[in-house]
Amino acid sequence: MHFNGPVVRPGTDADSVIIEVTVGCTQNSCTFCNFYRGFPFSVAPISQVEEDLKEASLLYPHAKRAWASGGNPFALSVARLEELAKLFKKYIPEANIATYGRITDFYNKSVEEIGHLRELGINDIVVGIESGDDEVLEHVKKGYNAADIVRECKKLEEAGMIYRVIYLGGLAGKDKCVQSALNSVRVLNQIHPSYMFLTNVSILPDTELYEEIKAGKFEESSEKERLQEIRALIANMDNRITVDTANASSSVIFKADLPEEKEALVAELDKFIENFSAAQEELLHRRRAMMRSV
Ligand code: SF4
Repeated sequence: MHFNGPVVRPGTDADSVIIEVTVGCTQNSCTFCNFYRGFPFSVAPISQVEEDLKEASLLYPHAKRAWASGGNPFALSVARLEELAKLFKKYIPEANIATYGRITDFYNKSVEEIGHLRELGINDIVVGIESGDDEVLEHVKKGYNAADIVRECKKLEEAGMIYRVIYLGGLAGKDKCVQSALNSVRVLNQIHPSYMFLTNVSILPDTELYEEIKAGKFEESSEKERLQEIRALIANMDNRITVDTANASSSVIFKADLPEEKEALVAELDKFIENFSAAQEELLHRRRAMMRSV
């Protein structure tokens, strides 16, 4: 197996057959992210992908799930993605292929093309939207805005593509988290991802965001504010979705199906926030400060 860069994938996809198809990400400049520092975007040679798939097929010929690895492989051309999908099908024919895609990766792909890739087996894209708040998106240099998210996600939906999103709490900074959640809800209530990974930003020493804090240009939100942001999101999201906070950056862990579990979850969060102590704040803040990845 060849891995020429960091392998980043959601926890839910850990048991997939993981095959490198790209290295790094095409953006590589979001101010909070250090995932692919030192690994500029590159495309894995087809011969390498085939070799790895051949190896995987010996061990897992009936694999049901595959992860096409890289920062945002969906940036590849439709022709290249088609070639990859066919290769995956040749060696692990029963596997549904999941991968990462950026909102900008869908700009130059039509609904028909996305639908075609879905039919070939790429039918699960994880999109790190991070926020639906224009001010936040611009500040962290995501390279798209709320309207872009809605337009491109609607394209995925029209193509019948399954997609999951990542929301990154705390990005708005001190005193802005709840308003940012409410702005994001306006986006989330217009789209229909099946799943949301609800994560929370940690300020990493080798990032632009860290430098902004040092220079006094950005103030980190407290742990309590981050909980209030999560509460505001959940309480105001209307569409059917599974929300999952199970990741190292979370201070509250749950997995809930909305809207069925919304009321009970909001009540739990209210109780947790009401009893949230200064000692918990301190402990969670210290834990977050030790994080070395988003
Ligand atoms: S957050 Fe995503 S898009 Fe931005 S630099 Fe990191 S991997 Fe690339």
